[in-house]
Amino acid sequence: MPEQNLTTLLNLPNLEVIGCESAEDAVVLEVKPTLKVAVCPECQRPSASLHDYDAPRLVRDLSMFGRKSYLRIRGRRFECETCQNAFTERLEWIAFDSSYTRRFEEYVFTLCRKNTVQDVSQMLELGYEAVEGLFKRQAKKRHRHNKKGSSE
Ligand SMILES: [Zn+2]
Repeated sequence: MPEQNLTTLLNLPNLEVIGCESAEDAVVLEVKPTLKVAVCPECQRPSASLHDYDAPRLVRDLSMFGRKSYLRIRGRRFECETCQNAFTERLEWIAFDSSYTRRFEEYVFTLCRKNTVQDVSQMLELGYEAVEGLFKRQAKKRHRHNKKGSSE
């Protein structure tokens, strides 16, 4: 199965590739989470009560073979069996509510350290403000991480 090979190549945790479309300048992989359960953010208990899917959305990932690459995914909504809280599953490889994978965000950050925001924006065909926003977010996160222990 070609999708199985793509799943291996993609190398993101608990994720399966179920389809692939490629256009001239972009590749879209259709993916879905493989775990049967999600952890409730309220009570931290796992729940298997999947009751709805969000509309599909595109998450930008690292480019593949010189083409921009996106993952198409439908967020999953669960209802906690313990506390009845309804919640959307959080995926570890994507920052919450972001339209980029974590590894893409890190890549943008690395590029920004050696290039201007304008350069990176052109290289990745990503808007100037999006690049700047990603860079600032990563910089803040790293700063917080380095300071951990002294503050918080
Ligand atoms: Zn709960």
